[in-house]
Amino acid sequence: MTRKLVGAVFFGACLLVATGAQAQSCLKVTLTGTQGGPPVFKGQAGAGTLVQFGSAETKCNDIRLQFDTGRGTTQRLSQAGVPVGQLDAVFLTHLHSDHTEGLADMMQLRWHFNSGGPKVDLVCSEETKSPLGFSLSCARFAKHIGDSLIQSGEIAQRLAENKKRLPGGPAELIVVKDFKPEDEAQKVWSKGDVSVSAIRSTHIAGHASYRVDTPAGSVVIGGDAGNDMRKPPRKTSTSDQVEKLAAGADIVVHSTIHPVMGPDGGTGFPPPIFFRQSNATDLGHLAKRAGAKHLMLTHLIPPVGAPRQGPYKLPDGALSEDDYRDAVSKSGFEGETTVGQDLASVMLTSSN
Ligand SMILES: [Zn+2]
Repeated sequence: MTRKLVGAVFFGACLLVATGAQAQSCLKVTLTGTQGGPPVFKGQAGAGTLVQFGSAETKCNDIRLQFDTGRGTTQRLSQAGVPVGQLDAVFLTHLHSDHTEGLADMMQLRWHFNSGGPKVDLVCSEETKSPLGFSLSCARFAKHIGDSLIQSGEIAQRLAENKKRLPGGPAELIVVKDFKPEDEAQKVWSKGDVSVSAIRSTHIAGHASYRVDTPAGSVVIGGDAGNDMRKPPRKTSTSDQVEKLAAGADIVVHSTIHPVMGPDGGTGFPPPIFFRQSNATDLGHLAKRAGAKHLMLTHLIPPVGAPRQGPYKLPDGALSEDDYRDAVSKSGFEGETTVGQDLASVMLTSSN
């Protein structure tokens, strides 16, 4: 099998390079949202990554997987040419709203127009109990995804005008496939030639990172993973488990914090929140050690061009794309780095 990295292309202007007459498959990775954390800056969508696999004939569009569903995911998917009703599965790295709040919108839309199915798999961690007395539950999140619309009466009203819709509302279209995240990768989903594995990673309880393997290549989606050692002294801010998952992967997509947000940067950003993210330089080291060809930085804290991250002002002004590139280049990573913008994408092709 030969594999070809086509490279970073922006706003959907993808070029599929033909390498011969043999059947060709392709893997396309698109950032559907690059906002870091709960703030919003200049219309950026919340965290999410679309992974598509297919052939040249179908323009990589036989299997469509969405990893995290931040604010505005529906809009970005429509720009990427993927209607919500066509997603095969949704994967959640963790239950923070900046990674999940777009799902209610997505599922209501799917219920409205695609109640006849197919249902969508929601792959996520099983319920995680905290010693602080609460628990995080993806299954509960899914079960109640349409509750405000049921309570308002809208679901009943729309059912009255179209009885083919599912009576339970949007939740009835979700099939929860939860798993217990472990320190070793486990297969959590597959279809045809595409297989998805997951590994435990640290951020909040129940955080998981994913890897998609296809005949055209592989991609790891780290989410907000950080090191199990939650603050220095430690050898890196990145997750050892994500590094294990990323070994030999072609593309690493990862949430990124710039070192300027650290305790010495003068922003006042809370150190525990800084330390639970992976910083740009350490991500370069991880990508280099894993042998990845492409590092896609997303969920940027702070966003490029933003004078502040939420209430935390940057004393020396907004960061540029080069500030992120410079932070990565300190690692010696020689692959391609994408400083994430919404709809940035990378495509891999292979002939087999
Ligand atoms: Zn986040």
